[in-house]
Amino acid sequence: MNFSNSYASLDEVFYERTRPTPVQNPQLFLWNSGLAEQLMIPNELKHDSVARAQAFSGNSIIPGSEPVATVYAGHQFGSFVYQLGDGRAHLLGEVLDQSGQRWDLQLKGSGRTSFSRGGDGRCAIGPAVREFIMSEAMNALGVPTTRCLAVVTTGETVFRETPLPGAVVTRVASSHLRIGTFQFFAARGDHQALKTLCNYTINRHYPELQEEGQNPYVSLIDKVIERQIQLVVEWMRVGFIHGVMNTDNTSLCGETIDYGPCAMMGIYDPQTVYSSIDTMGRYAFGNQPEILQWNLARFAECLLPLINDDRDKAVDQVEPVIAEFPDRFEKAYLKMMAKKLGLTFFKPEDQKLIVSVLNRLKDRRLDYTVTFDLLTKSLMSEAAASQMKNELGECFDLWQKRLSQQQAATQKVQELMRQHNPVVIPRNHHVEAVIQACEQTAKATSAEKFLEVLRAPYEELAQTSDYQDPPSDGDKDYQTFCGT
Ligand code: AMP
Ligand code: MG
Repeated sequence: MNFSNSYASLDEVFYERTRPTPVQNPQLFLWNSGLAEQLMIPNELKHDSVARAQAFSGNSIIPGSEPVATVYAGHQFGSFVYQLGDGRAHLLGEVLDQSGQRWDLQLKGSGRTSFSRGGDGRCAIGPAVREFIMSEAMNALGVPTTRCLAVVTTGETVFRETPLPGAVVTRVASSHLRIGTFQFFAARGDHQALKTLCNYTINRHYPELQEEGQNPYVSLIDKVIERQIQLVVEWMRVGFIHGVMNTDNTSLCGETIDYGPCAMMGIYDPQTVYSSIDTMGRYAFGNQPEILQWNLARFAECLLPLINDDRDKAVDQVEPVIAEFPDRFEKAYLKMMAKKLGLTFFKPEDQKLIVSVLNRLKDRRLDYTVTFDLLTKSLMSEAAASQMKNELGECFDLWQKRLSQQQAATQKVQELMRQHNPVVIPRNHHVEAVIQACEQTAKATSAEKFLEVLRAPYEELAQTSDYQDPPSDGDKDYQTFCGT
């Protein structure tokens, strides 16, 4: 495999060299052949499921791989944890794909490391399958995300509330650099390591900043803000609730990472929260922009000592960048929402329409995905139009009036709306049913069937309708758990 391990060639303060702990009976459970093609996984692995199970459980080390556990810290639910790190994951290394792009290959559930604290270093099959399905769905929806190459069952039992089958999931990411990685060194006052980390990040993700000379750090903050805004706006577009937006789960490259307690919002309500441990609703759907700003402010704080030796001067430089976040986010958000409504150009007056449509959804407890799908269809279908008129009332008339004012063919408007409004999302009750079927049958059939539909979220395939129904109880008592 085309390994090129730049992270492992950094100073050893950034990681621990450590090997996965072998498992009893590795069996390939899910395999992402499209991603395998892209990563140019060699034939001897691609066509041999035993070799694949060995490699992607960590039982055999793929030639060229230099496994490390990376170190990081992070704010979890607002409290700073001085020492986190890969407690159950091994970064196998980076592979270069067909186009020369660099991807981290990481095993999760691959055994204990020196960052495991009390944990067993393992992962149960449920969270592994959930991560595979959700990340594949997000990728197909067009949302930046880490991906999964494989899920391998281990033949071992992991003990959570109940005994569960164990699994190892292979995660593929543009990198695993997190805000928490910077926090680890900032908290220790290790400015040298911080500088190295910034340069590494710039090289890998923001090479255009290399020309900025001595002090590219404010620009780096600005770039990370931009990518994260793009990301969270996309979450808001499809109704994704991350559930655990801790700073160690906020990635420098702007990909969705950590599918532990995530969920999809059904009925539109900004206060929607499903994570069992998020009792205060810190990470509720509608709080995500604000939390993002908070996380980015933590990132900016880490870089202050690099920006200026005089902290006040550094703060003066950074503060405006953070202060403009709400405006920047809102602009991007409204632009996205305008497209969901088929507006080819966003005008500031459109904010009123957007807000009233969303308020109507909330008041009527309408499903976010179903409503925008029907609205899209209402351009061509009398039946959908009359249903929408019924449900949205005056908002529907206002929307139609606004559309009639723009010089765009109906077909163009529908295309725009379709690009921004999926017909199917990984609904919580279907995700849970599929995970349960995987656990009970020890077969991946139900997941494969679901994935086929989720990989075409803007199309209606023969099986799509099996997965479009909102939950009968509106996800009333639905709860998600951290994948530990
Ligand atoms: P997560 O909730 O997956 O973001 O994990 C938060 C922290 O807990 C990270 O440092 C993980 O490596 C660690 N962790 C989570 N589960 C386990 C486990 N089963 N064994 C060891 N460490 C774990
Ligand atoms: Mg995490």
